[in-house]
Amino acid sequence: MKTVLEINLQSLEYNFNKIKSLVKPTTKTMAVVKANGYGSDMIAVAKKLNKLGVDYFSVAYASEGVRLRNAGIKTPILVLIPQTGSFDEITSFNLEPSIYSFHFLSKFIAYAHEKNILDYPIHFKINSGLNRIGFKESDIEKAFQLVSNSDRLFIKSIYSHLSASEDLNEKEFTLHQIKSFKKAIKNILPKLNHKPILHMSNTSGIINYPESEFDMIRCGIGLYGFSNNLSISLKPVHKLLSTISLIIDVSKGESVGYNRAYVAKENTRVGIIPLGHADGISRSFNKGGYVIINEIKCDIIGNVCMDVIMVNLNKVDAVEGDQVVIFDEKNTAEDFAASVGTISYEVLTNLSSRIERKIIS
Ligand SMILES: *Cc1c(COP(=O)(O)O)cnc(C)c1O
Repeated sequence: MKTVLEINLQSLEYNFNKIKSLVKPTTKTMAVVKANGYGSDMIAVAKKLNKLGVDYFSVAYASEGVRLRNAGIKTPILVLIPQTGSFDEITSFNLEPSIYSFHFLSKFIAYAHEKNILDYPIHFKINSGLNRIGFKESDIEKAFQLVSNSDRLFIKSIYSHLSASEDLNEKEFTLHQIKSFKKAIKNILPKLNHKPILHMSNTSGIINYPESEFDMIRCGIGLYGFSNNLSISLKPVHKLLSTISLIIDVSKGESVGYNRAYVAKENTRVGIIPLGHADGISRSFNKGGYVIINEIKCDIIGNVCMDVIMVNLNKVDAVEGDQVVIFDEKNTAEDFAASVGTISYEVLTNLSSRIERKIIS
């Protein structure tokens, strides 16, 4: 036994089909596979989604798109936050950059000019309220002119990103975002002689705001099995398992781990689990974190170490070699994350490359 992250491709398929069933049959699906497929296995996930007929992939950085291409993925790839240092990677691997700032735009046009590139597919990003990247309302006209006056670029899609689609208390804000995206495209579309793909919704947008569907959905966390809407049952794809390497008995008053962070209030059986912050279990799990052993929640005690966590076994009947569940379908990564006030996105994407992936197909 050792630490292993199982990636269940059947669950991925289930989620993909479930999400597709929520939108019109003609709506395209972009699978977001950035950050190694939300900490899973980007290549295995992308290959599976290709078989299922996904239309597009998106990644954050060009290097992630290069990984997909090197694995033989031929599907179009949108790079969400490309950097000006990545133009060679983008163009040699046929990746499609988001155009999200005047700086990036002018550099990319200059690059395309220098390399004699014409009609390079790009994705025009509109900032409709998230205030992260993209052109805000007052800049759209100018940015659009620069793009459309250049024969170097071809607008493959126009898109924006929702800021609070999972929070129904922010409904008014979200509807306003959708409205301002609609307004922007209404101004742009008549000036183009082709129809770019329009897209706006992430997972929660797909579920909560059908009016944000447009021509394509961008689905990330939902594919991996999470949504904050309990009426949509999805299946977690990630299952993180480990084992009890050894058990030590600590007497009342003795301390456990670095900086003596835990002092035993009673005689305590301590399980040593081969998984630490180098694997992506952050030190925020020092307080409130737990694992499941033989169906019982066991608290993480002391400080999370680089390679090991220690857990309190007093409530469980356990022996060395027993399986440890960090999260699975029942005790989900979302629950695990919530125990220390974070979210599944962070826990999953933290899972480091040191953890062996086992693909369940
Ligand atoms: C990460 C990301 C997504 C995916 O969001 P989920 O909530 O995981 O579905 C979609 N669009 C953009 C621009 C993103 O950065």
